[in-house]
Amino acid sequence: MCDAKFLVDSMSGKLAKWLRILGCDTEYVNPKEEDSLILRSSTGRILITRDRELVKRAINHGVRVIYVPEQLEEALAVVSAGAGVKLRIDPGGSRCPFCNTKLDVVRRPRVPRELPKEVLHSHTRFLVCPSCKSVFWFGSHYWNMLKTLSEVKKKRRILPLSGGTRDDR
Ligand SMILES: [Zn+2]
Repeated sequence: MCDAKFLVDSMSGKLAKWLRILGCDTEYVNPKEEDSLILRSSTGRILITRDRELVKRAINHGVRVIYVPEQLEEALAVVSAGAGVKLRIDPGGSRCPFCNTKLDVVRRPRVPRELPKEVLHSHTRFLVCPSCKSVFWFGSHYWNMLKTLSEVKKKRRILPLSGGTRDDR
């Protein structure tokens, strides 16, 4: 489970999707938003940005902010260390990468959409977004994500001055 809530700026869309999959309530800011609006809407959320100027302004406004590098694995490692995000996919707690809604774990007979036959036949459990109706399953994409997470864990171990949790589960 993820206790932290985030507001991710428009430069880090991939990171936002990842945080949602890890179960974190994550809003994504429209690229056209003004900085002042970003700061206002970050109430109660940790702002994540690659913009150093925005980091300075956030700190001046008392907004909790994490500056992240461009590379995805490094950025995830920094957020994990800084905000205590567990680097583990718990399907029951994941959020939709597209719309941030909590996903439902659904058995095959209840999958609402027509999926490719081979997918339907080779999987029994699916994740369904009750809001945008996206369907996810534990295919090669999922295994690649686990690989990415183990890379992120390695990076987190060698972060300079990292705070947050060291929980590797
Ligand atoms: Zn959705």
